Amino acid sequence: MDELVAQGLVGQGPTTREIQQRRPRSRCPVCGRTWWAGLQKRAGAKYCSRRCRTAAWRERQGVVPKWLADLRAQASQ
Ligand SMILES: [Zn+2]
Repeated sequence: MDELVAQGLVGQGPTTREIQQRRPRSRCPVCGRTWWAGLQKRAGAKYCSRRCRTAAWRERQGVVPKWLADLRAQASQ
């Protein structure tokens, strides 16, 4: 154990918690969920889920999925 410390293999580097506190959170533009980019999802992820990505695409086609319309109706109340 002491040998590992001496080699710098133990007690080095940020903990997961430190990474979380330092990282900016990403926010899903569809449902508003947040996550830590690069930790819970890949760094460039734009949407929280496949469902939201599909919903965003549908909306561009002019069709808002019912669950999303309901979500927005709730959010605006
Ligand atoms: Zn989402």
